[in-house]
Amino acid sequence: AQDPRLARISSSIRVIPNFPKPGIMFQDITTLLLDTNAFKDTIDLFVERYRDQNISVVAGVEARGFIFGPPIALAIGAKFVPIRKPNKLPGEVISEEYSLEYGTDKIEMHVGAVQPGERALVVDDLIATGGTLSAAIKLLERVGAHVAECACVIELPELKGRERLGDKSVFVLVDGA
Ligand code: AMP
Repeated sequence: AQDPRLARISSSIRVIPNFPKPGIMFQDITTLLLDTNAFKDTIDLFVERYRDQNISVVAGVEARGFIFGPPIALAIGAKFVPIRKPNKLPGEVISEEYSLEYGTDKIEMHVGAVQPGERALVVDDLIATGGTLSAAIKLLERVGAHVAECACVIELPELKGRERLGDKSVFVLVDGA
């Protein structure tokens, strides 16, 4: 049987059609954050999975990976590393470009934040095409880290984002509406 917490998490996520542009069903996690039980259950489910996994770094992807990543990192005793949009991080960075439906995007990570051999968890709110997570995995692997898994609250399965991640596994709590 499915964990009863998942239904409450799913129903706390508001879906806004045609945002930010026509045809997109925007999965709005700000309503999950307003529901104290759903927010706690979300973090607890991740912590239950990743405690005792020797994960030393939680890498959160801007912007909503900055909401879910830090409480997980604190609970499992890992450090938190922000992976940001271009030109936001003040120190020396490495960058990874990835393709979007139209054009490209880029994410960056501070040099020296993650050491070779560290075990990392990548956190974001949602996997759609998988482009963002695959770029985040590449950043971590370029500095010699091992990515244990990616963790997202929501998956849009019809976009087949998992296929873009090769053999890396994604753990998701719920499917998008
Ligand atoms: P992708 O790189 O295609 O897997 O897209 C994932 C990123 O885009 C995540 O950071 C999400 O926050 C955001 N995103 C993509 N599609 C949606 C959607 N339908 N609703 C909310 N966020 C989305």
